[in-house]
Amino acid sequence: MWAPEYLAAIVDSTDDAVIGKTLDGTIISWNQGAQRIYGYTQDEVVGRPISILIPEDRPDELPSILSRLAHGERIEHYLTKRRRKSGEIIDVSVTISPVQDETGRIIGASAIARDVTAQQKAVKEALRIRDEFISVAAHELRTPLTTLYARLQLIERRLARKDLDPATVLADVTLVRQAADRLKTLIDRLLDISRIRSGQLQIERERTDLAAMVESTASMLAQTTGREINVRTSGPRENYVVAVDAVRIEEVVVNLLYNALKYSPREAAIDVEMTSIPSAVRIAVRDRGPGIHADEQTRIFEPFHRSSAVAPGVGLGLHIAREIAELHGGTLTLETPADGGSRFVVTLPRESR
Ligand code: ADP
Repeated sequence: MWAPEYLAAIVDSTDDAVIGKTLDGTIISWNQGAQRIYGYTQDEVVGRPISILIPEDRPDELPSILSRLAHGERIEHYLTKRRRKSGEIIDVSVTISPVQDETGRIIGASAIARDVTAQQKAVKEALRIRDEFISVAAHELRTPLTTLYARLQLIERRLARKDLDPATVLADVTLVRQAADRLKTLIDRLLDISRIRSGQLQIERERTDLAAMVESTASMLAQTTGREINVRTSGPRENYVVAVDAVRIEEVVVNLLYNALKYSPREAAIDVEMTSIPSAVRIAVRDRGPGIHADEQTRIFEPFHRSSAVAPGVGLGLHIAREIAELHGGTLTLETPADGGSRFVVTLPRESR
């Protein structure tokens, strides 16, 4: 049989509030967890009604709990609000059980309460972010769709005229295709985000020569855009052979290079610097564009955030690129070189963590 002191020590060692009360709601015991959560010491509350913890806007809560207890009912993980000694309102999850004497008569109740204010705040924040994401995504999808409809209507009207000018119609059709392309990019990226968030985007690692991949991607982009992209590697080439998801990492590199090209003047070269350290490989993409303002530096990684509307884009590239780097156990960070421009650095660990 456990000594009562031992049981008392267990009750006191928990982070939860453990409170004993009579059936009319008078507090008869109060552990240290209760003191931490509610702010009252044992001496301040024993003998007082439990209602001191209940916010004024819930007058019906206590009578209903007490009557359920009197009928032998247990109330489990009940999410509610309580008032601390300081007056602060907190979120708690409470389990209240009837306590019986040797004859089985209900003589009181024990309440175990956990402070869930932080969790509740996190849940609310997650829901807010989700709602905001849906509304921004819907808005972003609507914009190219509106262009698409408007142009199609115009084409219909032009086709109905006798003096049809094929060049004008062709220009309209091009705009329709561009809007459709934008929609496709948006939908593909939204699907990527949804896969990443639901944990369905699987990284398929295979031994990949990252130096060769970056060089061929850079040379392909340099050819199609007529721009200068220099790739430099240091140390032995074999150090750049790492087990990564080649398709996804190429996507990250293309994204960073595209941005560098998009946001810097035509005549300025892009420099890609690859370094290898014992634990990781780094790919740094440096441009000589306008750089990114200090208060934008975190936000550019948020979905749909765009700080410049001059270049085409949907504002999801960096968000997805960072997620892919993180799925590899790596990082994607931004550095701002003292002599201007931006430097995006992907770090991929050699060993998957
Ligand atoms: P997108 O380019 O489609 O808008 P991204 O997620 O790739 O979306 O980038 C988000 C924002 O970050 C861009 O709209 C742009 O304002 C800024 N940005 C990204 N890369 C650069 C860069 N190399 N130089 C300056 N600004 C950049």
